[in-house]
Amino acid sequence: MRVYIPLLSVILLAPLASATEAPLPTESELHAMTARFAPVEVKVDTSALPANEKLALAKMVEAAKIMDALFYRQVAPLNETYLASLVSDTSPLGRARLHFFHINKGPWSRLDSHRIFVPGVTGHKPPGANFYPADTTRGEIEAWIKTLPADQQTQATGFFTTVRRDAAGKFMLVPYSIEYQPELIEAARLLHEAAAATTQPTLKNFLTLRARAFLTNDYYDSDMAWMELDATIEPTIGPYETYEDEWFNYKAAFEAFITLTDAGETAKLRRFSAELQGLEDKLPIDPKFRRAQLGGLSPIRVVNVVFNSGDGNRGVQTAAFNLPNDERVVAAKGSKRVMLKNYQEAKFANVLVPISKHALAAKDQPLVAFDPFFTHILMHELMHGLGPQEITVGGRKTTVRLELKELNSTLEEAKADISGLWALQQLMDKGVLDKTQERAMYVTFLASTFRTLRFGLTEAHAKGMALQLNWLLDQGAFTVGADGRFAVDFAKVKPGVASLTTEIMTLQATGDYARGKALMEKFVVIRPEVKVMLARLNDVPVDIEPHFATEM
Ligand code: ZN
Repeated sequence: MRVYIPLLSVILLAPLASATEAPLPTESELHAMTARFAPVEVKVDTSALPANEKLALAKMVEAAKIMDALFYRQVAPLNETYLASLVSDTSPLGRARLHFFHINKGPWSRLDSHRIFVPGVTGHKPPGANFYPADTTRGEIEAWIKTLPADQQTQATGFFTTVRRDAAGKFMLVPYSIEYQPELIEAARLLHEAAAATTQPTLKNFLTLRARAFLTNDYYDSDMAWMELDATIEPTIGPYETYEDEWFNYKAAFEAFITLTDAGETAKLRRFSAELQGLEDKLPIDPKFRRAQLGGLSPIRVVNVVFNSGDGNRGVQTAAFNLPNDERVVAAKGSKRVMLKNYQEAKFANVLVPISKHALAAKDQPLVAFDPFFTHILMHELMHGLGPQEITVGGRKTTVRLELKELNSTLEEAKADISGLWALQQLMDKGVLDKTQERAMYVTFLASTFRTLRFGLTEAHAKGMALQLNWLLDQGAFTVGADGRFAVDFAKVKPGVASLTTEIMTLQATGDYARGKALMEKFVVIRPEVKVMLARLNDVPVDIEPHFATEM
């Protein structure tokens, strides 16, 4: 799972229907839409790597490019056709469309309620992506899954199968290893070459097992090996996140993050891991919902990006993530947080600082700082590993993800944000963190809510942030001045943060879909005072557009 460092547009506030029915953007409109992504050269110094490790790195980048191709196919049934139609158009308008298509990984603008910007595309971005037959409905798939025997239900709700129709037109499950076989064979070959080049044992092991997983469709061993990676090169490659499956959050999209480890930062951050069980034991929920023992090791890696692709390089860029998503691995080993430091620095400078000048009251502006920003992103990732995961509902063993279905991504992201603030406050009160950073933390978070909401409410992190902002406004924790600028009420923000942590974690612990649905319907909205502020942020870039320039 991920945290983003966002930003936004006003067009995104248009309702979905009018966005998709709007006329195609003109060339100048497209340039303006594209300019919301500030171009950033992403370059990492590889001079410390010996020649064999550089070769391994280059092979991983080649394999990562295949994840890009697979993700294009996963986004929508006709996505590759749309791309092919653009590649042959060499007019300035055609080039502009192709550029924006690469940013969005499809013909729908992710920042603009999926507004269409390519001719010949009709209809909404399919919420089931290309994981289910194009001619079916969410209800049909849900009903079909209920008719399956238990083991096939597990496959059907699992990460690594698509649903297709057989010759008779009936639904059938197809494993990724068959669905995407030619590309995965090639990716496996490249990972084997990388494994042969490196002399770092844990890296060699992960690459070998991940190559095998591409062919067998069993990712468990390679996920376990990924947890044990301890090398100068830190690759994440394969099918991981389920955000693209807006029907169920079941199906994993292909992506890659090929990165180098930042050893100094990683060591510094690891000390926070020692605090996690203590935080779990104090979570503001019924004690029976707390976990007596968290998963084993909880490694943290701070890395610098060499090359990202697929679901890991579309629209607004990921700044950090928490993987794997397989609850069996999480139960056995915890999960690993990977923080993309060179991305975070670029986003803070290009997006968050300019936003804070517009959005915050004058008294709060000087408090915005990179350190609390970075630390909250870290704690967001840590908090994904705390709180309810495997739960019991009516005597039945299940997971939060399965019970909350399409609500899960949003509520889990909101949980990680809000409980991250709660946790940092605990560590400041305990003296583990510098208490003088307290005000800076809340103010920087407030500025970052506007950064995130500029995504539009089409995406889990933004929906989660709308939930938090509106909750905290209702609690008086955040206030709006006569000039429309926002400020923090430092007396009310602490209880406000704790109360939302309680609400979300309790509905997760009880697998209460109805309560989650009601919470989202009330709070996942853009209110008038927020809309006014978002409109003032038009000249601030939404995010970065990475250009990978590392020499290998
Ligand atoms: Zn997250």
